[in-house]
Amino acid sequence: FLVKNSRRVADNEPLLRFREAKKVLGDVYGELKDNVAELEGVYKEIKENDFVSAEQREEIEAIRDSIKTIMDTFQRDNMKVVFFGRTSNGKSTTINAMLHEKVLPQGMGHTTCCFLQVEGSEDEVGHLQLDDNPQKIDMKMLGKIGHALSDENSDLPAMGQDSLLRVFHPKQTESGECRLLQNDVVILDSPGVDLSPEFDSWIDKHCLDADVFVLVSNAESTLTQAEKNFFLRVAKKLSKPNVFILNNRWDASAAETENIEDVKKQHLTRFRQFLVDELEVCSEREVNDRIFFVSSREVLESRLKARGLVQKAYQAEGHGTRALEFQNFERHFEQCISRSAIHTKFEAHNRRAHEMIGKMRLNLNSVLTSAAEQRSKLQNELNEATRTFNECRVNFTQFEKAYREQTEQLRAEVHLKVSADFFE
Ligand code: GDP
Repeated sequence: FLVKNSRRVADNEPLLRFREAKKVLGDVYGELKDNVAELEGVYKEIKENDFVSAEQREEIEAIRDSIKTIMDTFQRDNMKVVFFGRTSNGKSTTINAMLHEKVLPQGMGHTTCCFLQVEGSEDEVGHLQLDDNPQKIDMKMLGKIGHALSDENSDLPAMGQDSLLRVFHPKQTESGECRLLQNDVVILDSPGVDLSPEFDSWIDKHCLDADVFVLVSNAESTLTQAEKNFFLRVAKKLSKPNVFILNNRWDASAAETENIEDVKKQHLTRFRQFLVDELEVCSEREVNDRIFFVSSREVLESRLKARGLVQKAYQAEGHGTRALEFQNFERHFEQCISRSAIHTKFEAHNRRAHEMIGKMRLNLNSVLTSAAEQRSKLQNELNEATRTFNECRVNFTQFEKAYREQTEQLRAEVHLKVSADFFE
């Protein structure tokens, strides 16, 4: 139902489908809430100990509470993508390119020591938050705080690698709006996989609700065992995760390698094998839309230039093809993330709505049955009373008739006696 409704949104705007599905779901739950409130009102008007039992009343109250909880939850539901790969492969640069803005710190030497989660904010000025701690931290701290979290001498609590720093970035900035953040996409940048990772806690804490994983690989080298291990763990814990592989820094490879097409073929064969045979997360047919050869740096710089944020953009030979490849990746990524989020997140709410409607129907049916039983009991009592009354009436008529006859007879006897006395 949700998917069908959300298809009304044009196919070239897959992110909007998620918002549309959210709206449809909001309408469904809104109606359900009104119906439950109406039913609760009707039940309240019916006297205690009547044909609505305490359990039936409690069930409707529980449904009312569940609806409220679910409505609160799905307002917060989002589409989540996790970026993963070795330090300096270009994860932050890729994220910034997709956001059309330099939101995350990037550059050689910068090491992300914790998870950074970028999400949209309605405020004009962005801020940071440590996990669930509501205290707002100045955005300027972003470059230092990742290190500070794992630094014992810092004022901040040492939270370790799997801690989360939330980056609330304005959906709308002076240089333009951010489509991804505007449309409820949440982006998670992970610490470099080369930093003695604890994959299981990473996955349990941050990845179980992820819709898409993007492995940012360095086109100048092959996948490391650490990179593979992470995805092998993910594929064990999540059923068929959506994985994209970005062969980043393709500009550098293309400039330095003579047989670039052969190198590309080699990479493709290895990645295909990894996704199709080892991870078993996609078919031979799907895999072509999962592996891309890009230069995030070129894309980021040209997008910054288009927004007037830099004067000059870095572009190496063949940048046009790589830019198209990046856009192609974004198109497939957006389709995939919106489809996955609608299925995994909203379908569960949709199923719950069906269950609740079913429960309400059963509840109402049993109340109607006991009302009908009461009515037939009352009808039987009324029939019995009518029968007794009719019997009484018959008896009374008979009595009245007998009385009249007796009176007549008595009167006749008295009359005869009086006449006889008179003639004597
Ligand atoms: P992270 O540690 O994976 O987040 O990597 P960063 O995004 O911080 O990138 C590390 C360095 O690689 C930065 O200096 C980037 O400018 C550079 N870089 C990222 N992507 C590319 C690319 O596609 N081509 C080139 N030539 N350099 C890149």
